[in-house]
Amino acid sequence: MTLGKTLEKRLKKLGIHTRRDILFYFPFRFDDFSRVTLMKDAGPGAVITVRGAIELIKNRRSRNRRMILTEALVSDESGSMKVIWFNQPFLTKNLKNGERVSLSGKMSDHAFDLTLINPAYEKIRAGDTPTHTARLVPVYRLTEGLTQKQFRTVVKAALDSSSQELAEWLPVDLIRVENLLDLKTSIEEIHFPQDSSRWERARERLAFDELFVLQLAFRTARKNLEQLQSFSCAFPKDETQDFIAALPFRLTAGQRIAVWKIVQDLARPRPMNRLLDGDVGSGKTIVSAIATFVCARGGLQSAYMAPTEILARQTYEAFVKLFEQYGVGCALLTGKQIYDSRFTIHETIPKKQVLSAIREGEIAIVIGTHALVQPSVKFSKLALAIVDEQHRFGVNQRKALREKNESGEMPHLLSMTATPIPRSLALALYGDLDVSVLPEGPKGRKKVVTKIVPPNYREWTTQFIRKEIQKGRQAFVICPLIEVSDVLGVRSTTQEFERLKTQVFPDLKIGMLHGKMKGKEKEEAMNSFTSGAIDILVSTSVIEVGIDVPNTTVMLIEGAERFGLAQLHQFRGRVGRGEHQSYCFLFPSESASENTVRLEALVNCSDGFKLAEEDLKHRGSGDLLGERQSGIPALKLASLSDVHAIQKAREWAEKIFPRLEHYPALQNHLAEVERDVHLE
Ligand code: ADP
Ligand code: MG
Repeated sequence: MTLGKTLEKRLKKLGIHTRRDILFYFPFRFDDFSRVTLMKDAGPGAVITVRGAIELIKNRRSRNRRMILTEALVSDESGSMKVIWFNQPFLTKNLKNGERVSLSGKMSDHAFDLTLINPAYEKIRAGDTPTHTARLVPVYRLTEGLTQKQFRTVVKAALDSSSQELAEWLPVDLIRVENLLDLKTSIEEIHFPQDSSRWERARERLAFDELFVLQLAFRTARKNLEQLQSFSCAFPKDETQDFIAALPFRLTAGQRIAVWKIVQDLARPRPMNRLLDGDVGSGKTIVSAIATFVCARGGLQSAYMAPTEILARQTYEAFVKLFEQYGVGCALLTGKQIYDSRFTIHETIPKKQVLSAIREGEIAIVIGTHALVQPSVKFSKLALAIVDEQHRFGVNQRKALREKNESGEMPHLLSMTATPIPRSLALALYGDLDVSVLPEGPKGRKKVVTKIVPPNYREWTTQFIRKEIQKGRQAFVICPLIEVSDVLGVRSTTQEFERLKTQVFPDLKIGMLHGKMKGKEKEEAMNSFTSGAIDILVSTSVIEVGIDVPNTTVMLIEGAERFGLAQLHQFRGRVGRGEHQSYCFLFPSESASENTVRLEALVNCSDGFKLAEEDLKHRGSGDLLGERQSGIPALKLASLSDVHAIQKAREWAEKIFPRLEHYPALQNHLAEVERDVHLE
């Protein structure tokens, strides 16, 4: 099978380099042209396929002369029919009188001038099955210069000439027990299904493959990790207990268990790979701080990678406070900020000096943004890497962080996320990664009063916010978009900022925060909000990640229906962090009507894990985890909300993995998949 150079180039744009890539580039929908009718039965407005011979075909200009119309008369044994195409003059070269064609498309609406408009066509040749008409016709996501017709032809050719790519890789037993379609049939049916039920069978089989391979890949990654050496860090029991006893609060049960698991992991010479999953405000920071303390006492270093400058700064300040009596040195290292706690907290010192202190092992804890993964940053003994909001980091950054030790040891890895990940999803996503959950936040926190606000209560809410601010409190306003857009009735941050500043609260201090602002502006806005110089901060979803201003008591969310429940819950977690009763107001967009029912779950429930389960049920996993998951390959057909399929894939992976070398085809396939993604 050879393709032209131009075609090859265009395919490359889609990430298609090999015949295998073509076969695994699936259609995203189908045109249902499977209804083949006689011409006499083709009624107005119907989507149909007819077959017949061309009696007449010619081009002419439209009356306004702007378009070229190709008109044809086509007949079958029942009668004849008018066909028209717009601006495809080459058709008269392609289709000749007397030729037999299959045509699929929609009939005009007017019964008195029945015409088949702009149909897909293909010539009928003896022995051929139809590709572009008379069936469920696949439609692909393509790039410019590549037509559906071309691509379908390419897929057909690939299907005809590929035997080795489609050699079965699943164990025979598995296929039999689970009653799955074989691979070759599945790939054929996923592109050119006989009917929708066959397509569903193919989807089921290929979706199973995705989940199964993912599970095998997790197991492989874990096995590989177990071969690696890391620092084993003895648990300084008494000192740690004293450190914990000196904290201004008692650890929750969840925190205690998490700490205990982590110190046990740290003591092993094999790298830890643990996820700490706890709702916003559940107290993950202190758990990670205790882990760094344990390492520091063992003369080892830790790195803490935060997703934003602001959070890195906040974490640094919190750590400095925690550790100043213990003589544990901390440094902050971001693109713009460099501090070293062994000097005065707010004194900037030369980067070179800090870098060399880190390399010499003089600084125990280094906190920063992804600036930490720069090649210039080297550690002498990096025992622990902590990644906050881990799903915001790419796999490569995680890998880089792990390669910081000049001596080559693999640091222990503690990932933290505030996205509550339901158990079923955690298994699918992280396989056998160890997960610690902080199920409950610190005691004594007040529940945030949550209300869905109908449009006619806007004024009431305005008054309410004003009263809170008069009491000395502060408020957040979140908008789904940064700038005004075409999406009707959805408020934007810049627009809402102007409106509040000039019309609604001209007497109050309003600030703005969004992702397109410069780092410095963002920082200024945050600092003024933290210090109380700003009353109301209008923001996009950037504040979703961990800002801690306990004086804030109102969280107002515009276009609330546009967010997932788990995300809304995270926004809500920004308030209710202090001693005051707090409120969360959800404003659906004016254009949203049916969507608001889903929001009620938020009013009644303050358990992030339960809300995440709801999200998973209703909106799939995409919303829960954001667009780009860390290293999880894009699942084309499987759904991570299909708990049943995931469970099955896990069971089979457990059975097959120990005997993987007996299944060379499966091993090959696994290697192919692993080449594209890295899991750890
Ligand atoms: P997150 O899990 O969102 O990162 P933080 O670690 O920032 O949460 O903790 C939120 C707040 O709760 C912080 O001000 C922290 O000092 C406080 N906190 C943490 N653990 C406890 C506890 N056991 N009791 C009381 N307050 C706590
Ligand atoms: Mg945090």
